[in-house]
Parts: sequence; C-alpha cells; structure tokens
Amino acid sequence: MAEMKEWEEGMKTHENVIFSCYGGMSNTGITSALACLEAVKELGLEKVVIGCLAGLALKVKPVVGKTRAAKKVITVDGCPFQCGRKTVEQSGFKLTKSIVLTRDIGMKKKALHEDIGEDIKGVMQYISEDEVRRAKELIVKTILEE
Ligand code: SF4
Repeated sequence: MAEMKEWEEGMKTHENVIFSCYGGMSNTGITSALACLEAVKELGLEKVVIGCLAGLALKVKPVVGKTRAAKKVITVDGCPFQCGRKTVEQSGFKLTKSIVLTRDIGMKKKALHEDIGEDIKGVMQYISEDEVRRAKELIVKTILEE
C-alpha cells in the first residue's frame, strides 16, 4: 500500500466544510450529524465535506489547512449550547454561517438520559426523518447560495 501523504497547502481539497456538533446524547445532536451526512451525499465530496471538529480544536494540521482553504465554513448545531460554532470560532475561524436546529427548524431537544429506567427506546426512534430532511435542505441551501 502506498504511503499516505499528509495534505499540504495548495493541494486539491473540498470546496466547503461543514462542522456538525454531533452530540449523541440528544435527538438534536444526532439529527445534526445525520443531516450533514445527507447533505454530503446529495452534493458530493468535491462540493462539501464534514470537518473533524475535534481535529480542528486540537490544531491537527491538515484539518486546519483544509478549513482555511474552504470557501465556506458552516457549523450545524443541534441546540443553543452551539458546541460546534464555539469550537470553530475558538479555533480562530470566522464562520460563513451558523445553523442551530432548535432555532432554525424549530426542533425540540430531547435529552436521551431522561428515559433511562423508564421507557428507553432504540436510538433511531428518537429521530424524525422529517427533521433530518429539513435540516439537510437548509444545509444544502446554505452551501449553494451565493
Ligand atoms: S450543540 Fe447541543 S446537541 Fe450539539 S453537541 Fe452541543 S449540547 Fe449536544
């Protein structure tokens, strides 16, 4: 197998980067992650990629470089804590746009621990396909608009 060459400035890269908060402790964080993935599936990897949020915070060089080279840097947060936006901004980046699902598509947050010992369901039973679709459409629109 050929040795992996680390990405360097000037190399080809994805046009835009989205960062999902991706918290798995609530319906909102999971919806953010799924909607970002659906947006990448729809638009293709030339147009957009999901950035490594932890890598950015840890100043991993290729992650920082690809984010710097992106035309748009967009965060998708599930709830008002806005973990994604704060992480990206604290890493020194100016956002093109911040999407917050509770604010922008009217999601109601459900913390999943609440049902432990009560009526805990399978993880996908907390996820609404309609909310994933509406979040994905908003992400796609944000990437495509001039
Ligand atoms: S923004 Fe909200 S949903 Fe997303 S990881 Fe933070 S606390 Fe969880």
